[in-house]
Amino acid sequence: MIAIDGSFGEGGGQILRTSLALSLVTGTPFRIENIRAGRKKPGLRRQHLTAVKAATEVGDAEMRGAELGSQDLTFSPSQISPGRHHFSIGTAGSCTLVLQTVLPALLTAGGNSELTLEGGTHNPFAPPFDFLARTFLPLVNTMGPNVTMKLRRHGFYPAGGGRIDVAIEPAKRLAPLHLLERGDVVRWSARALVANLPLKIAEREIRVIQKRLALDDRAVSAEPVSSDGPGNAVLIEVKSEHAAELFSGFGQRGVPAEKVARGVADEAARYLAANVPVGEHLADQLLIPIALAGGGSFRTLPLTDHTRTNIDVIRKFLDVRIAAREVGQGTWEIRVGS
Ligand code: AMP
Repeated sequence: MIAIDGSFGEGGGQILRTSLALSLVTGTPFRIENIRAGRKKPGLRRQHLTAVKAATEVGDAEMRGAELGSQDLTFSPSQISPGRHHFSIGTAGSCTLVLQTVLPALLTAGGNSELTLEGGTHNPFAPPFDFLARTFLPLVNTMGPNVTMKLRRHGFYPAGGGRIDVAIEPAKRLAPLHLLERGDVVRWSARALVANLPLKIAEREIRVIQKRLALDDRAVSAEPVSSDGPGNAVLIEVKSEHAAELFSGFGQRGVPAEKVARGVADEAARYLAANVPVGEHLADQLLIPIALAGGGSFRTLPLTDHTRTNIDVIRKFLDVRIAAREVGQGTWEIRVGS
């Protein structure tokens, strides 16, 4: 049984999700203590609880400690069950984070899967639907499986009510992925979404982005979307020869739309200036399929705590070599395997 201290490194939900994901793939049981000890409201919140329950269902697992607020969990999977699964968070907790918990095991499972996830689809501090659909999954699909995602309804904090459908055709094994060059930027675009809020908000955001990034009118859109409650998301996509990146920000009461837009535009500009293919969020998420493939490499921005912590958790479950080094100013290279 692997012992995990949920308070180490980044100290958040990712330690739990990566542990669940890799426990499912390897069949290795684990116990985690001090879950999310580094967060304001420590322990399992509804999104994490749904991730634990999803992993329990997919891995036909035995588990102890899955209650709201729990900081101690034991998880022992038996067999992976691909097929139809429906996971509902019941709040605006992130559907995409729940998906990332069970996806690695289903990528090489013995059959196809169809998942429905309900909750938040566009949340702060989590990958929005568009990030998985445009950035993460196209790369995973080059490794062998075929995963497609459909956004049925947007879900924003705090009302939730979003829905994502996912179809997974697994591969026998994952092929290594090497992503060292970004290549030329082929296209970039910005969208601002509003649900149950004036379209003016999205239009103001788009104006800021156009000015800051010199995007012409054909590359931008302000879009009303339907959702259970109010919501606002700003999404900037940079499509290059070898990768696509998506940067996001979310409207918040009391924060001017211009400020939200500026934050996302600055993040996109920083990525473009660094001339790397992999942005900082993609880096921590890509490590898992690459480690499972047993090989791969990529160049990215300076490593975040999420990336460093994920490397440590992966090393506990998998016998892979992961080396990270700075190869230029503000450019890091991660190599997995020999
Ligand atoms: P945690 O904070 O431990 O719950 O982990 C959050 C996860 O969401 C990490 O894998 C982050 O890289 C990812 N994440 C956070 N914000 C974004 C974003 N804007 N775009 C893509 N991924 C994100």
